[in-house]
Amino acid sequence: MNNTPVKRLPRKQSSVERSSSVETVGCQLENGQDEQETCRRTDKTTDVNGGPSTPTSPRTPGHGVTGTTPMSPPPVSPKLDRWIRQRCRDLTLRRVDTQRAAKIVNHLRDGLLEFLKNNQERPYFRQATVLNSGSYFEMVKINSPNEFDMMLILPTPRLTWTDLDDCPDVFYTVSLSRPTRSNEIRSYLLQDQRTISAARIRADMRDLVCNFISTYEVPPEVIGHWKVCEAKEDCPAVTLELLREDSEEAEMSIDIVPTLEVTQGWPDAARKGPNVDNWLGKNTRRKFVSQPFYFVPKTPKGNDLSEMSRESWRISFSHIEKDIILKHGNRRTCCEGRGNRCCRKSCLRLLKRLIEGLKQRFPEELEPLCSYHGKTAFFHALSRRGDDTQWAVGNLSSCFLFLLDAFEGHAQSGLLTHFFVPSHNLFAPPAFPQGTLDFLVAALKEQRESNLPFLQTPAPAPPLNSSPSSVQLVPLGSASVTESWLSKPKAVMFTVLMAVVLGLCFI
Ligand SMILES: [Zn+2]
Repeated sequence: MNNTPVKRLPRKQSSVERSSSVETVGCQLENGQDEQETCRRTDKTTDVNGGPSTPTSPRTPGHGVTGTTPMSPPPVSPKLDRWIRQRCRDLTLRRVDTQRAAKIVNHLRDGLLEFLKNNQERPYFRQATVLNSGSYFEMVKINSPNEFDMMLILPTPRLTWTDLDDCPDVFYTVSLSRPTRSNEIRSYLLQDQRTISAARIRADMRDLVCNFISTYEVPPEVIGHWKVCEAKEDCPAVTLELLREDSEEAEMSIDIVPTLEVTQGWPDAARKGPNVDNWLGKNTRRKFVSQPFYFVPKTPKGNDLSEMSRESWRISFSHIEKDIILKHGNRRTCCEGRGNRCCRKSCLRLLKRLIEGLKQRFPEELEPLCSYHGKTAFFHALSRRGDDTQWAVGNLSSCFLFLLDAFEGHAQSGLLTHFFVPSHNLFAPPAFPQGTLDFLVAALKEQRESNLPFLQTPAPAPPLNSSPSSVQLVPLGSASVTESWLSKPKAVMFTVLMAVVLGLCFI
C-alpha cells in the first residue's frame, strides 16, 4: 500500500542550500558506549528546506545538518529564519492564559484530593497525593495552556518488578516484596496475593473520578462543567474535559493518571541512562538516579497480549523530564536572567508544533506518533550538544533545524532510544510499525523541502475536539496564507491582538 504523504502535501521550491557535509564516526550511543552499528561515514549534499534533495540512506540520528560537533550554525535563508521566528512567537503568545488555567486545574486537584481522602468505598485511594508533571508544568505546552497531566501517587509498600516478555525494560508486572496485612491494597492484588492489578486500579480510579465529577462545582468565575471522557484502550489516564455552557467545545482537558512511586532504586535497564554527563554533569546524573521512579498502569501495544501483559505497568520518569526541561543548561545560570537566555525550550515547542501539525493532517497514518517522540529526540540532541553557547537565542532557526534534522535522522534510521532506558527503541514495531515510520520519513522530508508549512499554528483557541481536516495548512510565502486568515474575522482580531501584545513586549 502506497500511503506516503508526498502526493498530499503542498510542495514549495526552497531557497536555502545545505552545504556538503561529511559526517564523522566516533559518536556515542545514549548509554555512553561507542556506537558501532549506526554511525557510518557518509558524504552527501542535501538541500535544506527546499529543492530536490539527494535521497538519503539510513542515517545516524542527529548527524545531518550540523554533524556531531557543529562549530558554526548552518546557513538559514532570511525568509525561513523569519518564518521560524514568527511561528515561535505565536507559540509563546498563546500561553497568556496560563495563570487562569492553573487556577482552574488547582481547584479541581484540591477538590479531587479532598474527595479521595473522605471516600468510603476505596480506602486505598485515601492517601493519594499529586505529582505535577507534563508539559504545562515544564512550560513547553504549545498552542494554548489547555492540556494538563496530573499523576496521582498511590502509597505503596516495598515492591518488586519483572520485565514483560512482550516488551522488556519498559513494561513490568509489579508485586509486593512481601505479603501484606493491609486491606487497603489487598483488593488490588491478583490471585497470588502479591501482584498489583493495573486493570483494577485503572477501573477504580475511573469510578472515583466519575463520582467526584458528579458532585464537583467549578469555581464561580468559570462558566462550564467538567465531563469524563470515554475510556481509551491502552490509556492509563482518566481524561476530563472542561466544556463551556454554550457549546460542546472543550476549553481544557486533564489527564489523571494513577501512579505507583518506587523509592528502592531504578531498574537495571534504566541505570544505563540518561546520558547527561557531558551536558548536565555527573553529579546531576547521580542525583537523578537517586530519585524515585514511577509506574503507570499501561499495557504495551499489540493484539496478542498475554494475561500478565494486560496487568502491566509502564515505567515513568516524567518528574525528571520536567527537571531537565526546567534546568536544562550546562551552566546553572542558563535562562536565569535576560542576558542568559537560550533557545532550547523554543526549539522543543517548535518541534512539538510540527508533530502536532503532522498528526492533525494525517491522524490515521501517524497515529502512533506522539509528542514524547519529539521530547525524546530533544533530550538526545541536548545530550550531544551540551554547551549553552550552542543554543544561543540568536541561533534559534539553525538550532531548530538541527533538532529537526536529528528527529528526521532518528526516523530514517528507525532508532529512537528511550532516554532513560537505552535498550528500548521507541521507533520499533509493533508500537511504531514500519509503515508509519516510512510515512513519517516522507512527511518530514516534505516539510523540510516545503519550508515547514506545518509550523503554522491553527486558528486561535482551537477546540480540542476539532476535526483534523478543518486545519488549513499553507506553504510558506503562499498568497493563500493571507487569504485564509483574512477569511476569518476572529483570526484577524487575534492577529491584531497579537501585534499589540508584541508591541508591548518590545517597549
Ligand atoms: Zn536556557
